Amino acid sequence: MIKIKNCPICNNEDLIHYINCRDHTVSEDEFLIVSCETCLLKITSPRPSENEIYKFYESENYISHTNRKSSFFDWVYQLVRIYTTERKVWLLKKNTKGRVHLDYGCGTGEFLNACAKSGFETHGVEPSKKARALAEKNYNLSVTGNTDLSNFKKGEIKSISLWHVLEHVDNLNNLIQQIKKILSEDGKAFIAVPNHESWDCDYYKEYWAAWDVPIHYWHFSSKAVVKLFKKHGFKLVQKKPMLFDSFYISLLSEKYRNGKYNFIKSFIIGFASNLIGAFSKKGYSSQIYIFEKNK
Ligand SMILES: [Zn+2]
Repeated sequence: MIKIKNCPICNNEDLIHYINCRDHTVSEDEFLIVSCETCLLKITSPRPSENEIYKFYESENYISHTNRKSSFFDWVYQLVRIYTTERKVWLLKKNTKGRVHLDYGCGTGEFLNACAKSGFETHGVEPSKKARALAEKNYNLSVTGNTDLSNFKKGEIKSISLWHVLEHVDNLNNLIQQIKKILSEDGKAFIAVPNHESWDCDYYKEYWAAWDVPIHYWHFSSKAVVKLFKKHGFKLVQKKPMLFDSFYISLLSEKYRNGKYNFIKSFIIGFASNLIGAFSKKGYSSQIYIFEKNK
Protein backbone atom coordinates (compact mmCIF):
# COMPACT_ATOMS: atom_id res chain seq x y z
CA MET A 1 0.00 0.00 0.00
CA ILE A 2 1.13 3.54 -0.78
CA LYS A 3 0.38 6.45 1.49
CA ILE A 4 0.19 9.76 -0.36
CA LYS A 5 2.16 12.39 1.55
CA ASN A 6 1.40 15.51 -0.44
CA CYS A 7 -1.13 16.77 -2.95
CA PRO A 8 0.18 16.18 -6.51
CA ILE A 9 -1.41 19.45 -7.63
CA CYS A 10 -0.41 22.02 -5.01
CA ASN A 11 2.10 20.03 -2.93
CA ASN A 12 0.13 20.68 0.28
CA GLU A 13 1.19 18.17 2.97
CA ASP A 14 -1.78 18.81 5.19
CA LEU A 15 -4.18 16.12 3.90
CA ILE A 16 -7.15 15.57 6.17
CA HIS A 17 -9.41 12.54 6.45
CA TYR A 18 -12.58 12.99 4.39
CA ILE A 19 -14.61 9.79 4.00
CA ASN A 20 -14.36 5.98 4.09
CA CYS A 21 -15.54 4.12 0.97
CA ARG A 22 -15.91 0.49 0.05
CA ASP A 23 -14.79 -1.23 -3.14
CA HIS A 24 -18.15 -2.63 -4.30
CA THR A 25 -16.94 -4.29 -7.49
CA VAL A 26 -14.18 -6.71 -6.51
CA SER A 27 -12.92 -6.92 -2.93
CA GLU A 28 -15.49 -5.28 -0.61
CA ASP A 29 -12.42 -3.77 1.13
CA GLU A 30 -12.68 -0.35 2.74
CA PHE A 31 -10.44 2.54 1.65
CA LEU A 32 -9.86 6.02 3.04
CA ILE A 33 -10.17 9.20 1.06
CA VAL A 34 -8.22 12.24 2.23
CA SER A 35 -8.74 15.83 1.19
CA CYS A 36 -6.47 18.66 0.15
CA GLU A 37 -8.33 21.68 1.42
CA THR A 38 -6.28 24.04 -0.73
CA CYS A 39 -7.28 22.76 -4.18
CA LEU A 40 -10.19 20.45 -3.24
CA LEU A 41 -8.53 17.35 -4.69
CA LYS A 42 -9.58 14.19 -2.83
CA ILE A 43 -7.11 11.32 -2.73
CA THR A 44 -7.46 7.58 -2.12
CA SER A 45 -4.76 7.04 0.50
CA PRO A 46 -3.34 4.63 1.34
CA ARG A 47 -3.88 2.88 -1.98
CA PRO A 48 -2.60 -0.37 -3.51
CA SER A 49 0.79 -0.23 -5.23
CA GLU A 50 1.33 -0.87 -8.94
CA ASN A 51 1.88 -4.57 -8.19
CA GLU A 52 -1.35 -4.86 -6.22
CA ILE A 53 -3.79 -2.70 -8.15
CA TYR A 54 -4.33 -5.02 -11.14
CA LYS A 55 -6.47 -7.43 -9.11
CA PHE A 56 -8.99 -4.66 -8.33
CA TYR A 57 -9.67 -4.36 -12.08
CA GLU A 58 -10.56 -8.03 -12.38
CA SER A 59 -14.31 -7.68 -12.25
CA GLU A 60 -16.97 -9.39 -14.35
CA ASN A 61 -18.81 -6.09 -14.30
CA TYR A 62 -16.07 -3.88 -15.66
CA ILE A 63 -18.22 -3.27 -18.72
CA SER A 64 -16.20 -0.45 -20.18
CA HIS A 65 -13.89 -3.22 -21.39
CA THR A 66 -16.47 -5.61 -22.76
CA ASN A 67 -19.33 -5.60 -25.21
CA ARG A 68 -21.74 -8.11 -23.73
CA LYS A 69 -25.49 -7.53 -24.01
CA SER A 70 -26.76 -10.00 -21.45
CA SER A 71 -29.19 -7.82 -19.49
CA PHE A 72 -31.47 -4.84 -19.97
CA PHE A 73 -28.93 -2.69 -18.16
CA ASP A 74 -26.11 -3.73 -20.51
CA TRP A 75 -28.36 -3.09 -23.48
CA VAL A 76 -29.19 0.47 -22.37
CA TYR A 77 -25.53 1.02 -21.52
CA GLN A 78 -24.49 0.05 -25.06
CA LEU A 79 -27.15 2.28 -26.63
CA VAL A 80 -26.08 5.28 -24.55
CA ARG A 81 -22.47 4.50 -25.39
CA ILE A 82 -23.20 4.77 -29.13
CA TYR A 83 -24.81 8.18 -28.61
CA THR A 84 -22.11 9.55 -26.28
CA THR A 85 -19.35 8.27 -28.59
CA GLU A 86 -20.82 10.18 -31.53
CA ARG A 87 -21.18 13.30 -29.38
CA LYS A 88 -17.52 13.08 -28.35
CA VAL A 89 -16.43 12.79 -32.00
CA TRP A 90 -18.58 15.83 -32.84
CA LEU A 91 -16.96 17.77 -29.96
CA LEU A 92 -13.53 16.76 -31.22
CA LYS A 93 -14.23 17.84 -34.80
CA LYS A 94 -15.72 21.14 -33.68
CA ASN A 95 -12.74 22.08 -31.51
CA THR A 96 -9.72 20.88 -33.49
CA LYS A 97 -8.09 21.79 -36.77
CA GLY A 98 -5.73 18.86 -37.33
CA ARG A 99 -6.97 15.30 -37.65
CA VAL A 100 -4.38 13.30 -35.70
CA HIS A 101 -5.95 11.98 -32.54
CA LEU A 102 -4.61 9.99 -29.61
CA ASP A 103 -7.01 8.32 -27.20
CA TYR A 104 -5.17 7.63 -23.95
CA GLY A 105 -6.81 4.68 -22.21
CA CYS A 106 -8.75 3.71 -25.32
CA GLY A 107 -10.15 0.46 -23.86
CA THR A 108 -11.66 -1.74 -26.55
CA GLY A 109 -11.45 1.06 -29.11
CA GLU A 110 -15.09 2.11 -29.79
CA PHE A 111 -14.32 5.82 -29.61
CA LEU A 112 -11.15 5.54 -31.72
CA ASN A 113 -13.02 3.54 -34.32
CA ALA A 114 -15.64 6.30 -34.53
CA CYS A 115 -12.81 8.84 -34.93
CA ALA A 116 -11.25 6.78 -37.73
CA LYS A 117 -14.62 6.65 -39.52
CA SER A 118 -14.79 10.45 -39.25
CA GLY A 119 -11.48 10.87 -41.03
CA PHE A 120 -9.01 11.02 -38.14
CA GLU A 121 -5.61 9.38 -38.16
CA THR A 122 -5.91 7.49 -34.87
CA HIS A 123 -3.53 6.32 -32.17
CA GLY A 124 -4.38 4.50 -28.97
CA VAL A 125 -2.73 3.79 -25.64
CA GLU A 126 -4.18 1.04 -23.47
CA PRO A 127 -2.40 -0.81 -20.65
CA SER A 128 -4.88 -3.72 -20.52
CA LYS A 129 -3.64 -6.46 -22.84
CA LYS A 130 -7.11 -7.95 -23.15
CA ALA A 131 -8.76 -4.64 -24.14
CA ARG A 132 -5.90 -3.86 -26.52
CA ALA A 133 -6.26 -7.19 -28.28
CA LEU A 134 -10.01 -6.56 -28.78
CA ALA A 135 -9.38 -3.05 -30.19
CA GLU A 136 -6.92 -4.51 -32.67
CA LYS A 137 -9.07 -7.49 -33.58
CA ASN A 138 -12.48 -5.74 -33.82
CA TYR A 139 -11.45 -2.44 -35.40
CA ASN A 140 -7.96 -3.00 -36.76
CA LEU A 141 -6.61 -0.09 -34.68
CA SER A 142 -3.01 0.63 -33.81
CA VAL A 143 -2.82 0.58 -30.01
CA THR A 144 0.27 0.57 -27.82
CA GLY A 145 0.58 -0.67 -24.25
CA ASN A 146 3.35 1.84 -23.62
CA THR A 147 1.71 4.33 -21.23
CA ASP A 148 4.65 6.77 -20.97
CA LEU A 149 3.98 8.19 -24.49
CA SER A 150 7.61 7.64 -25.52
CA ASN A 151 6.36 6.15 -28.83
CA PHE A 152 5.26 9.58 -30.03
CA LYS A 153 7.22 12.45 -31.56
CA LYS A 154 7.24 16.02 -30.25
CA GLY A 155 4.20 17.95 -31.48
CA GLU A 156 2.94 14.99 -33.51
CA ILE A 157 -0.54 14.80 -31.94
CA LYS A 158 -3.25 17.36 -32.76
CA SER A 159 -5.70 16.24 -30.11
CA ILE A 160 -5.68 13.86 -27.18
CA SER A 161 -8.54 12.48 -25.12
CA LEU A 162 -8.60 10.93 -21.66
CA TRP A 163 -12.19 9.78 -21.12
CA HIS A 164 -12.41 8.85 -17.44
CA VAL A 165 -8.75 7.93 -17.34
CA LEU A 166 -6.94 10.63 -15.36
CA GLU A 167 -8.43 9.41 -12.08
CA HIS A 168 -6.65 6.05 -12.65
CA VAL A 169 -3.24 7.52 -13.49
CA ASP A 170 -0.41 6.97 -11.02
CA ASN A 171 1.80 10.00 -11.77
CA LEU A 172 -0.39 12.88 -12.91
CA ASN A 173 2.38 15.45 -13.32
CA ASN A 174 4.56 13.15 -15.43
CA LEU A 175 1.71 12.27 -17.74
CA ILE A 176 0.60 15.87 -18.32
CA GLN A 177 4.19 16.87 -19.07
CA GLN A 178 4.38 14.09 -21.66
CA ILE A 179 1.03 15.15 -23.13
CA LYS A 180 2.30 18.70 -23.47
CA LYS A 181 5.36 17.47 -25.32
CA ILE A 182 3.61 15.37 -27.96
CA LEU A 183 0.74 17.81 -28.48
CA SER A 184 1.13 20.35 -31.32
CA GLU A 185 1.17 24.07 -30.43
CA ASP A 186 -2.47 24.46 -31.50
CA GLY A 187 -3.43 21.05 -30.08
CA LYS A 188 -6.24 20.38 -27.63
CA ALA A 189 -6.64 18.02 -24.70
CA PHE A 190 -10.08 16.58 -23.85
CA ILE A 191 -10.29 15.45 -20.24
CA ALA A 192 -13.34 13.76 -18.71
CA VAL A 193 -13.44 13.06 -14.97
CA PRO A 194 -16.10 12.64 -12.28
CA ASN A 195 -16.84 15.70 -10.14
CA HIS A 196 -17.16 15.15 -6.38
CA GLU A 197 -18.84 18.54 -5.99
CA SER A 198 -21.88 17.31 -7.94
CA TRP A 199 -25.22 16.90 -6.21
CA ASP A 200 -25.40 13.14 -6.84
CA CYS A 201 -22.16 12.86 -4.83
CA ASP A 202 -23.70 14.91 -1.99
CA TYR A 203 -26.73 12.67 -2.10
CA TYR A 204 -25.04 9.25 -2.12
CA LYS A 205 -22.02 10.24 0.01
CA GLU A 206 -19.81 7.17 0.63
CA TYR A 207 -22.02 5.12 -1.73
CA TRP A 208 -21.38 7.45 -4.68
CA ALA A 209 -20.27 5.01 -7.38
CA ALA A 210 -17.77 7.41 -8.94
CA TRP A 211 -15.51 7.22 -5.87
CA ASP A 212 -14.71 3.78 -7.32
CA VAL A 213 -11.94 2.99 -4.83
CA PRO A 214 -9.24 1.86 -5.03
CA ILE A 215 -8.91 2.08 -8.85
CA HIS A 216 -9.69 5.81 -8.75
CA TYR A 217 -6.60 7.28 -7.11
CA TRP A 218 -7.71 10.92 -7.47
CA HIS A 219 -11.12 12.58 -7.12
CA PHE A 220 -11.34 15.92 -8.88
CA SER A 221 -13.32 19.10 -8.46
CA SER A 222 -13.47 21.60 -11.36
CA LYS A 223 -10.97 23.77 -9.55
CA ALA A 224 -8.53 20.88 -9.07
CA VAL A 225 -8.57 19.85 -12.76
CA VAL A 226 -8.05 23.41 -13.99
CA LYS A 227 -5.28 24.05 -11.44
CA LEU A 228 -3.47 20.84 -12.42
CA PHE A 229 -3.40 21.72 -16.13
CA LYS A 230 -2.61 25.37 -15.46
CA LYS A 231 0.46 24.25 -13.54
CA HIS A 232 1.73 22.60 -16.75
CA GLY A 233 1.03 25.56 -19.04
CA PHE A 234 -2.51 24.83 -20.24
CA LYS A 235 -5.59 26.98 -20.15
CA LEU A 236 -9.23 25.94 -20.05
CA VAL A 237 -11.11 26.57 -23.28
CA GLN A 238 -14.43 25.02 -22.42
CA LYS A 239 -16.22 22.84 -19.89
CA LYS A 240 -19.04 20.49 -20.93
CA PRO A 241 -21.44 18.32 -18.93
CA MET A 242 -21.72 14.56 -19.42
CA LEU A 243 -25.44 14.32 -18.86
CA PHE A 244 -25.76 10.52 -18.98
CA ASP A 245 -23.17 9.91 -16.31
CA SER A 246 -25.42 11.14 -13.49
CA PHE A 247 -27.98 8.44 -14.38
CA TYR A 248 -25.40 5.68 -14.67
CA ILE A 249 -23.68 6.72 -11.42
CA SER A 250 -27.02 7.00 -9.58
CA LEU A 251 -28.01 3.53 -10.79
CA LEU A 252 -24.81 1.98 -9.43
CA SER A 253 -24.85 4.08 -6.23
CA GLU A 254 -28.41 3.00 -5.51
CA LYS A 255 -27.33 -0.64 -5.88
CA TYR A 256 -24.33 -0.14 -3.60
CA ARG A 257 -26.51 1.45 -0.93
CA ASN A 258 -29.57 -0.80 -1.07
CA GLY A 259 -28.31 -3.98 -2.70
CA LYS A 260 -30.54 -3.70 -5.77
CA TYR A 261 -31.10 -1.56 -8.84
CA ASN A 262 -33.87 1.03 -8.70
CA PHE A 263 -34.33 2.42 -12.20
CA ILE A 264 -37.04 4.96 -11.39
CA LYS A 265 -35.34 6.45 -8.36
CA SER A 266 -31.95 6.54 -10.10
CA PHE A 267 -33.54 8.37 -12.99
CA ILE A 268 -35.01 10.99 -10.63
CA ILE A 269 -31.71 11.49 -8.76
CA GLY A 270 -29.74 11.66 -12.02
CA PHE A 271 -32.19 14.16 -13.46
CA ALA A 272 -32.10 16.29 -10.28
CA SER A 273 -28.32 16.28 -10.32
CA ASN A 274 -28.24 17.52 -13.92
CA LEU A 275 -30.76 20.22 -13.11
CA ILE A 276 -28.82 21.41 -10.05
CA GLY A 277 -25.62 21.19 -12.10
CA ALA A 278 -27.13 23.51 -14.70
CA PHE A 279 -28.28 26.14 -12.23
CA SER A 280 -25.59 26.13 -9.54
CA LYS A 281 -21.82 26.19 -9.20
CA LYS A 282 -21.70 22.53 -8.15
CA GLY A 283 -21.33 21.32 -11.72
CA TYR A 284 -22.37 17.94 -13.16
CA SER A 285 -21.67 14.35 -12.08
CA SER A 286 -18.94 14.12 -14.73
CA GLN A 287 -17.54 16.85 -16.92
CA ILE A 288 -15.39 17.26 -20.02
CA TYR A 289 -12.66 19.91 -19.84
CA ILE A 290 -11.06 21.12 -23.06
CA PHE A 291 -7.56 22.55 -22.63
CA GLU A 292 -5.11 24.24 -24.96
CA LYS A 293 -1.51 25.34 -24.48
CA ASN A 294 -0.84 28.87 -23.29
CA LYS A 295 0.31 30.97 -26.21
ZN1 LIG B 1 -3.89 20.42 -3.36
